[in-house]
Amino acid sequence: MPIIARMTSSPQQQDSGRPGEFELIAALKRVIDDSPPASEVIVGIGDDAAAVSVESGIHVMTTDTMVDGVHFLRERASWSDVGWKSAVSNLSDIAAMGAAPLHTLVTIGVPADVAVTDMEEMYRGLTGAFAEFGGGIVGGDVVSSSVFFVTVALTGRAAEEDGSPVVLRRDAAEAGDLIAVTGTIGGSVGGLSAVLDGLEGADAEALKQAHYRPVPRIAEGQMLVENGVHCAMDVSDGLVADLEKICAASEVGAVIKASDVPVPEELTSQFGEEALPMALSGGEDYELLFTLPFDLMDRLFARHRGMFTHIGHITDEPDEGDRVVMVDSDGVEMDLQSRGWDHLGAR
Ligand SMILES: [Mg+2]
Repeated sequence: MPIIARMTSSPQQQDSGRPGEFELIAALKRVIDDSPPASEVIVGIGDDAAAVSVESGIHVMTTDTMVDGVHFLRERASWSDVGWKSAVSNLSDIAAMGAAPLHTLVTIGVPADVAVTDMEEMYRGLTGAFAEFGGGIVGGDVVSSSVFFVTVALTGRAAEEDGSPVVLRRDAAEAGDLIAVTGTIGGSVGGLSAVLDGLEGADAEALKQAHYRPVPRIAEGQMLVENGVHCAMDVSDGLVADLEKICAASEVGAVIKASDVPVPEELTSQFGEEALPMALSGGEDYELLFTLPFDLMDRLFARHRGMFTHIGHITDEPDEGDRVVMVDSDGVEMDLQSRGWDHLGAR
């Protein structure tokens, strides 16, 4: 079954004074041609649309946009990091469905003061991430814009549980499930704070790396499906805010134990007591947050020890009050002041 997707040029939107659109597309095509080709491409960049062959099963699709001044600042981030991160925010959503990345379309809005070499560098960030995690670029669009933005759209193929394709969902948590998370939480906001505060040294640099070069949990997402996990999402808006989304979708509540949240050592060394609140509300960690029955957790721990941390459990839907509560090591409820950020709010 072929899929046809629109791609490439809109000549009427080309302004004089900015890089010629066709010159820019040719330069970007060279960057893409230098990276590993996407699989199953029938028609790639250069035609009216890309054409790829697909097999039966479940395909997932996602898109995400990064806008200068909203999601990043051009003065502060390298173009390569902007490309890497816009790839990873999409790859992470594919991971959160338990799928493998397939094909990518990239649309960029280019202001007059952006050079062809800037966009080549950004595409090297994009193609670097797709080369490492899958999802080669098969097309896109270039438009002029007063503000730089990049929109990535990505497809993926669902993993299989017992021979049948299955996706991880937010609405599949059940009371009694345990809650777990891959990796550590809070490194990205720690990196942003380290940049803003002018912190230096090995720990600050490790946090900055987490902020500018996050890693999507592609293999882990597929492993969860293959082992029978059904409920997951990626931590993009903050641990508590994202757990609230799982609880709302599943009509349940959640309790997390503060001392069990895996905070990176570097965050604690740089920010002390602020580390935990930062981790709970920070966002952009791109780890997987998932729930699973107790016996399944036992099996997963036996097979994949060190890959994830148990941080709490799912409860019945609360009659009133917050869906997500945090307790200290004695089980006493703690105050959760900052619950994450939404994309339409200021930061
Ligand atoms: Mg997501």
